[in-house]
Amino acid sequence: MDISKTPANFIRDIIDEDLKNGKNGGRVHTRFPPEPNGYLHIGHAKSICLNFGIARDYRGLCNLRYDDTNPEKEEVEYVDSIREDVHWLGFEWGEREYYASDYFDRLFAYAVDLIKKGKAYVCDLSPDEIRKYRGTLTEPGKESPYRNRSVEENLDLFERMRQGEFDEGSRVLRAKIDMASPNITMRDPAIYRIKKADHHRTGSKWCIYPMYDFTHCISDSIEGITHSICTLEFENNRPLYDWVLDQLGIHHPQQIEFARLNLSNTVLSKRRLLELVQKKMVSGWDDPRMPTISGFRRRGYTASSIRAFCDRIGVAKFNSTIDLVVLENSIREELNKTAPRVMAILDPLKVVITDYPEDQTEEMEAVNNPEDPSQGSRRVPFTRELYIERDDFREVPPPKFFRLAPGKEVRLRYGYFIKCEKVIKDTQTGKILELHCTHDPATRGGNNPPDGRKVKGTIHWVAAKPALKAEVRLYDVLFTKKDPNDVEEGKDCLSNLNPKSLETVSPAYLEPSLKTAKAGERYQFERTGYFFVDPVSSAPGNPVFNRIVTLRDTWEKIEKSQK
Ligand code: ATP
Ligand code: MG
Repeated sequence: MDISKTPANFIRDIIDEDLKNGKNGGRVHTRFPPEPNGYLHIGHAKSICLNFGIARDYRGLCNLRYDDTNPEKEEVEYVDSIREDVHWLGFEWGEREYYASDYFDRLFAYAVDLIKKGKAYVCDLSPDEIRKYRGTLTEPGKESPYRNRSVEENLDLFERMRQGEFDEGSRVLRAKIDMASPNITMRDPAIYRIKKADHHRTGSKWCIYPMYDFTHCISDSIEGITHSICTLEFENNRPLYDWVLDQLGIHHPQQIEFARLNLSNTVLSKRRLLELVQKKMVSGWDDPRMPTISGFRRRGYTASSIRAFCDRIGVAKFNSTIDLVVLENSIREELNKTAPRVMAILDPLKVVITDYPEDQTEEMEAVNNPEDPSQGSRRVPFTRELYIERDDFREVPPPKFFRLAPGKEVRLRYGYFIKCEKVIKDTQTGKILELHCTHDPATRGGNNPPDGRKVKGTIHWVAAKPALKAEVRLYDVLFTKKDPNDVEEGKDCLSNLNPKSLETVSPAYLEPSLKTAKAGERYQFERTGYFFVDPVSSAPGNPVFNRIVTLRDTWEKIEKSQK
């Protein structure tokens, strides 16, 4: 595999120190613990690269563990998609695919153990009352009147909770810690609740389910995890993580928090992403505009570019937002070297070379990738009628416009120098219909003529009749604002959806070599961007292209247009 060593970070420093001190007998064992309640997104990719990357570089292990304690929101579809996405990113977990739900029996036994130690009790307060008793950041909480039940009574009630004797919300099992703790998480948190719902793996076996904080640390412990890496919002839960394992006296991994990934113009909340899917604002979880791993894959991103991005952004202790440009640059850098270049016209303007024979076709040699001569060359047909981009012509050119204009000469890449002699317009609307040009036969192949004459502009083109007509989808950011949650009162991020996030060009005119483009291939359309042959919509001989990314980032473009 082409996964290179990742740069140092504070987590690796901790592991280095642990190894030096012989902690965990020199073992390094991490895990990636998604909840199967949605598809994985680019934030999860950061966590995956971190956990699996550490295991790889320290010759340790990384488990895939489904944190599936919430029976209502979880689905097998999500379980399968997570497996596929982690594999696609290039990581393996061997036999070590685990489910928190596989530990339900043991978790129940550990809960009984806590009760026996006098460290957990069944509480009959309603959810509302529990909230009121909890106190606030500035006020301590109040002890539940059920806090001092005897061990026997607690054991009996907990068993009867399990038997289904009580209604949802009528009782919970709580850890007996400290209602006056400055950390609200430690004020007798619930560790088991009644939920009369079937689970995607355990069926109707259980009607009580363990809470995240109780499940997670014990699952880590059971699996012999050494370093339990999670995002910063779990910092306040760390004392609880430690407390549970200390009370039970079982293997105690170290929880380490890092800053989650936030990306500009992007929403990374599973709840929000689910909403976009359910409200059909996108075509599904793998819509190429979605920040999901499956969305990036469908868009045409490579796994290696996403891994390179995760390495580049690093791992820190403070939250920040990464500009989308950083991600885009990582795929640009890769495709600049690997993607063959072709010519494609998305917004056509017809050019007639009036001094070129009507029945003639020349096969011009075009280089596949100037960055990589080993990619060789191909032939593109040149004919009397061509298409160029409408934007490459200006009737009244602004200063420094080096492309085509009346009376001006430009180089057609791999073609000829042509000169615009006449502009043909629709008499009614004034719209430019076509350009009549002449060519200089001494510039064949787009080379400079012997008289030493030079032109400043080079544009791309496609021969009209032989062109492949194809659908091209131009994707843009899903949210117009850098911070999609920057909204007026009473509105939410959906009000910042970009109405132009998808523009379909049909047909675009592509050089005929693309007739044989295969699903999953990537190309650079010269001067336009990088494109991916969509595996879902394409058929043999009839490729459909997704724009992965433009050639330069938007800010550069804006700056340029302002010059
Ligand atoms: P939720 O809890 O709302 O389902 P989540 O984002 O916490 O969402 P999980 O499936 O629990 O989703 O996440 C699995 C792992 O991925 C966790 O360890 C979590 O910390 C990590 N993770 C989630 N979002 C990000 C992010 N934006 N950046 C980095 N890591 C993330
Ligand atoms: Mg979570």
